[in-house]
Amino acid sequence: MNNVKNAQVAIVTGASRGIGAAIARRLASDGFAVVVNYAASSKEADALVAELKAEGAAAIAVKADVSNADDVRRMFDATEQQLGRVDVLVNNAGILKTVPLADTSDAYFAQAFDINVRGTFNTLREAATRMNDGGRIVNFSSTTLALNMPGYSVYNATKAAVESFTHVFAKELRGRNITVNAVAPGPGATSLFLDGKTEEQIQHFAKLPPLQRLGQPEDIASVVAFLAGRDAGWVNGQVLRANGGVA
Ligand code: NAP
Repeated sequence: MNNVKNAQVAIVTGASRGIGAAIARRLASDGFAVVVNYAASSKEADALVAELKAEGAAAIAVKADVSNADDVRRMFDATEQQLGRVDVLVNNAGILKTVPLADTSDAYFAQAFDINVRGTFNTLREAATRMNDGGRIVNFSSTTLALNMPGYSVYNATKAAVESFTHVFAKELRGRNITVNAVAPGPGATSLFLDGKTEEQIQHFAKLPPLQRLGQPEDIASVVAFLAGRDAGWVNGQVLRANGGVA
């Protein structure tokens, strides 16, 4: 059983399913009190919180659309009231739709930038004044940024912005002993990647890395756990590609 009372506090955005849920599980088992943030999947978020509590961790589910600054402020309020000040922020929430630039709707452009970029910006701005010194921030980029595949122009543009935030914000937090890094996963077995792809397309992506498989959410959760944990204290302002060697 974790020492719930003295646990450090971690917010994981988009933790109701996919990679975020695996991160919440891993950080809870590493001893963190965990905020399971979600936008729509309340059933999944509640079930995950129940699972983490049954294992002795402190956990709460907080509904907040990360693209909405007021929601994000309220998420930090709820976290401070129920668990304490934030030590770790994982900006995992994100969306992907692959579409050629010429066919991209205004609505998708706005939504992708709202969630992937503004969502990360909103939590970083809050973290700047509300995070404990010595904390850890892990943002989410993507290996697609290195692959430059057709259909990924808007998504990659959002992740390029996230990488820029990572490099600059790490420097702006000078003196606080807070690290800011990003993880850039390769193709991984979650609905974000799998939805809308044929079995043939999935197999194509699975064969790309020399390790010859798709990433699993747990592969990425362990990288986040490293960056959020004691051993990564000297890693700052970096983008860590976790992709089986695809790029
Ligand atoms: P996923 O399975 O689609 O899960 C996305 C999560 O984000 C869900 O929990 C969803 O919660 C949440 N979310 C979506 N919009 C939100 C919003 N506005 N506010 C708060 N939460 C929101 O995606 P995933 O594959 O785990 O991806 C996680 C991260 O890894 C993303 O940043 C993605 O870009 C990145 N990534 C993934 C892959 C991959 O192949 N899977 C590769 C590279 C990078 P609700 O259901 O409640 O909306």
